Amino acid sequence: MSLEKEQASLRSMIHLYCKGQGHPDPLCEDCSALLDYALDRLTRCPYGEDKPTCRHCPILCYSPEMRERITAVMRYAGPRMLLHHPVQSIRHLLHEKASQGSKPGEGLPRGESGQKGVDSDT
Ligand SMILES: [Zn+2]
Repeated sequence: MSLEKEQASLRSMIHLYCKGQGHPDPLCEDCSALLDYALDRLTRCPYGEDKPTCRHCPILCYSPEMRERITAVMRYAGPRMLLHHPVQSIRHLLHEKASQGSKPGEGLPRGESGQKGVDSDT
């Protein structure tokens, strides 16, 4: 993920979070401070655009307080962000979960070769 995209997604996550928590402003003071902080961390990240795992990286260089806050944001906004930034693997998981209820049965019964149904379909 490029730095720019990373910043954009941080921004949207914090916006989502702030709104979702019913904070007074579109982006309240606390949340915009958090955003500033997060963006700042991101800019200073030694890995820059070559970050191997940007998901975890920012969290690691946060101060404990900010880390706690950004964790809350991510916990809240993460699943919602999937709507905007679909992650294939997670979508897959959700999909599997959704279709879990109606299992079509493990394959077809074996041993019955040949004739099936007499007048099953019309
Ligand atoms: Zn807020």
